[in-house]
Amino acid sequence: MVHVTAGSGARPSKQEYLMLLALAARTRADCLGRRVGAVVVRDDRVLSTGYNGTPIGMPNCTEGGCHRCLNRQTELYPEGRGYDLCVCVHAEQNALLAAARFGQSTLGATLHTTMRPCFGCLKEALQAGIVAVHYLSDWSSGDGEDQEALNTQYAALRSRFSEFAKVEVPLAALHPLLAELEKEGNLERR
Ligand SMILES: [Zn+2]
Ligand SMILES: [Zn+2]
Repeated sequence: MVHVTAGSGARPSKQEYLMLLALAARTRADCLGRRVGAVVVRDDRVLSTGYNGTPIGMPNCTEGGCHRCLNRQTELYPEGRGYDLCVCVHAEQNALLAAARFGQSTLGATLHTTMRPCFGCLKEALQAGIVAVHYLSDWSSGDGEDQEALNTQYAALRSRFSEFAKVEVPLAALHPLLAELEKEGNLERR
C-alpha cells in the first residue's frame, strides 16, 4: 500500500503528479465500461500514456464500435463474460503499446493506473518488463469455479512485481481536479 500525503495543493509530489497524469489520460477514455487512464514511467520520466477505447480507425465504443460493450450486462454478455470478444483496448495495454509504437523500452518501468489492472493487462505488463504497479481504485472479482482459478493465477502474476500497491490518497485533498472525479464515485462511469 502506498500512502500519499496530500501536500498544500500547490505542488504535487511525484506520486501525485503521476496519478494526476493517469487521471488526465482517463478523461479521454471512450468506453461504455469503466473509464481508465494509465501512465508508463521510467526513472521518473513519462514514457507513454493510455486510456481505454477501440483501436485506431475503428468506430468509438460509445458510438457502438464494440459489440460486447454495447451489450454488456445483458443475457448476451453477462458480467465478466465475453472479454475475448471485446474490441476495446485497455488503458494499460494502450500505454504499453504506445511505448512499443514509438520505440520506448518498458523494461524496468513502472505502471501507474487509475484502476487495478485486469488479468490480461497484468500478464502483459509483466511480460513487457514492468516492475511496479501503482493503482488508484480497486474492483472485486466475481465468483464461480473459473473465477477461483483466475484469482489464483492473478495472485501468482502479481507476486512477480517488486511493487504492487494501491495508492491510498484522499482524492479531494490531493488536487481540486480530483474532487470532481470523486463525486463520480470510485472513478467509475457507470
Ligand atoms: Zn468499450
Ligand atoms: Zn485490462
